[in-house]
Amino acid sequence: MSHGIIFKGIGGFYYVKRDGILYECKARGKFKNDKIIPMVGDYVTISVHDAEKKLGMIEEIHERRNSLIRPVVANVDQAVVVFSIKDPMPNMTLLDKMIVLAEHSALDVVVCFNKADLDVNFDFDAYKKIYEAAGYKVLKTCALSKAGVDELIETLAGKINVFSGPSGAGKSSLLNAIADYAVETGEVSAKIKRGKHTTRHSELFEIINGGIIVDTPGFTSLSVSEVDPEDLPDYFPEFKKYAELCRFDNCLHQNEPGCEVKKALNEDLINKQRYDAYIYIYNEIVEQRRRLNKW
Ligand code: GDP
Ligand code: ZN
Repeated sequence: MSHGIIFKGIGGFYYVKRDGILYECKARGKFKNDKIIPMVGDYVTISVHDAEKKLGMIEEIHERRNSLIRPVVANVDQAVVVFSIKDPMPNMTLLDKMIVLAEHSALDVVVCFNKADLDVNFDFDAYKKIYEAAGYKVLKTCALSKAGVDELIETLAGKINVFSGPSGAGKSSLLNAIADYAVETGEVSAKIKRGKHTTRHSELFEIINGGIIVDTPGFTSLSVSEVDPEDLPDYFPEFKKYAELCRFDNCLHQNEPGCEVKKALNEDLINKQRYDAYIYIYNEIVEQRRRLNKW
């Protein structure tokens, strides 16, 4: 027995990929008793009953690193946050909010500016600098010409990845471009194309460099109310080295005395747009929580 990953689930059957082979598995009854439902993305231990027919049984579900609700997938490692540089113009506060949600689920973040063909004057380098300061990879792509797609694919290697971003940013188009690099191409491309207009369960697909991708885009609309306002500063990684020097351990970097984050902001060491987004999102969380408590 060795471990595999659930790539899809249909009608009580789970398709588990292990050592490059897809096994059709049932789950042991004990999971039902423990009220654990196997999820796509779960790392599982299986026993193989029929190697030729590739039939097996899920014996153990390993502890989950996280589980996303939209799409319903466990153990996602990385979010590729896709925004178009034009049509629609990027809403940077929304971008920062999506990064906060990714951080909240403990995901690595890649920022991908798509539709690079639509505006040659877009100041990509300025955005690259801002988000690289936060420790994120920043890419520029054109899903139509596939410019930058090679580099995007490189960032997916060895991880379970989800694409997120607002409607119209080009997530489906990028998924389609990437599906050409899938280990089983034809079936995957057909599914992604179909997926756009039908509600169904998410599946994983694997690309040739070992990257695994959720075939349904993630959190297109979002609420930050479940984020604890006290945790929010942690979701802006470029604050960290200054925040450690703030006078108060629980400094929220607003009006507290001895705040090194505010000082860094005033010295242009922290990007003002990012700081403003932090304050905006903070206020939104507080406001959402206040409303939820009232009702
Ligand atoms: P999604 O809602 O994020 O999945 O976005 P889609 O992939 O459906 O793309 C929305 C529209 O933008 C479609 O008409 C695409 O053809 C177009 N589109 C996607 N990527 C690009 C790109 O890189 N350049 C241009 N010019 N159009 C794109
Ligand atoms: Zn502070």
